[in-house]
Amino acid sequence: MEKDIFCRIIDGEIPCHKLYEDDDVLAFLDISQVTKGHALVVSKKHFDNFLTTPQEIMHKVMDVAQRIGQVDIKLLGARGVNILANCYPEAGQTVMHFHVHVIPRYGNVNEIEITMKNNSEGLNLPVLAKEIKDNL
Ligand code: AMP
Repeated sequence: MEKDIFCRIIDGEIPCHKLYEDDDVLAFLDISQVTKGHALVVSKKHFDNFLTTPQEIMHKVMDVAQRIGQVDIKLLGARGVNILANCYPEAGQTVMHFHVHVIPRYGNVNEIEITMKNNSEGLNLPVLAKEIKDNL
């Protein structure tokens, strides 16, 4: 199977602007800076996405994402941060290798638009909640 782009970065075949590295986690700047400092935190071992990554590794990736977000606020002057993990193409995932976006927000227009529309009409929330709850 062909290596995905993040496996190639991890293996040193493609350069990146590295922010952090340990045995399990690599963080680097996203090549397409949605805002200044937009970072990606990835697991070094290949997993397809957040949902299919073992808990221990997922926790390590999220720890690093949290630390980068804290630096965005303290150092870069961000006033907010979005932490995003797109899972599967329907949710916008384009690189099939577990990664978390850390996107500093400065309050400028044209940064990113995450619009959450209310589509709850016709849904039975008590039944839906029970269905999910009973399967956790
Ligand atoms: P997603 O759409 O959540 O799968 O995000 C994939 C991200 O990977 C995009 O934001 C791309 O800009 C980023 N990306 C793709 N290739 C590279 C690369 N060579 N170095 C850094 N970031 C990359």
